[in-house]
Amino acid sequence: MLAADEIGARLREVRDRIAQSAQRSGRTLDAIRLVLASKTQPADAVRAAYHAGARDFGENYIREAAAKRAELADLTDATWHLIGHLQSNKTRLATRTFAIIQTLDSARLADAIAHAQPRPLMPALIEVNLGGEPTKSGVGVSDVASLIDAARAKVEILGLMTIPPHAESATGARSYFAKLRRLRDRLAATTGLALSDLSMGMTEDFEVAIEEGATMVRVGRAVFGERPQ
Ligand SMILES: *Cc1c(COP(=O)(O)O)cnc(C)c1O
Repeated sequence: MLAADEIGARLREVRDRIAQSAQRSGRTLDAIRLVLASKTQPADAVRAAYHAGARDFGENYIREAAAKRAELADLTDATWHLIGHLQSNKTRLATRTFAIIQTLDSARLADAIAHAQPRPLMPALIEVNLGGEPTKSGVGVSDVASLIDAARAKVEILGLMTIPPHAESATGARSYFAKLRRLRDRLAATTGLALSDLSMGMTEDFEVAIEEGATMVRVGRAVFGERPQ
C-alpha cells in the first residue's frame, strides 16, 4: 500500500478537484459525497484515509468487507457502501456489514434484503446497466421502473448507480452520466420518489460525473494507488 501520508495527500488532491468541479457546475460541495473504493486495499490504507478525513468507503466483496470492518471497528462514524454485486444468499451478512447497498438489481434481491432486514428499510440504490452489457450486472434501462415498483416497499430506494460502458475519454462518459440523470428525472416524476442520489464517476471521470449531477462519486486508485492483486 502507499504510505499513509501519501494517501492523505492524494485524498486532499481529489477533494480539491471535486470542489473545483462543483464550483464549475454551480453545485454545493456538501451535495457530493466521496466514497472511497477500497476493495483489495488493506485495512491500514482505509485507516490512513479515515485519518485524513474520509468517512465513506465502498467495498465489492462481502467477506472481505466484513473482515475489514471488524479490523476497523473503532472507526464508528465510517459509512460502508456495498458497490459490488450481491447474491441473494449473502444478504444477511451484507445487511450487517453495510449501511447502503448501491447494487440492487432484481426484485428477488430486494425480497432477500427485506427478509434479512425488515425494519428499518435498508437504504439502496438501483444499479443500472446503461449500455445493456451482458458482462455487467445491473438492471436494463427499460426495467428500472418495474424494479422500483417491486422493491419500494422492501428497501429505501435513494436513487440510481451506474458503471457506464468503457469510454475512450472522460467526455465520452459524459453522455452516459447525462443519460442516468435524465432517467432519474423521468422516474422521479412517474414514481413520486425523490431518487435524489446519483452514484456515478470513478478515478478516470469523476469530475465529469459531478458536472452531470453525481451526488456520490466512487474513487479508488486516485487515492489508494493501483490495487494490490
Ligand atoms: C473499483 C470500483 C470503483 C473505483 O474504481 P477506480 O477506477 O479505482 O476509481 C468504483 N466503482 C465500483 C463499482 C468499483 O468496483
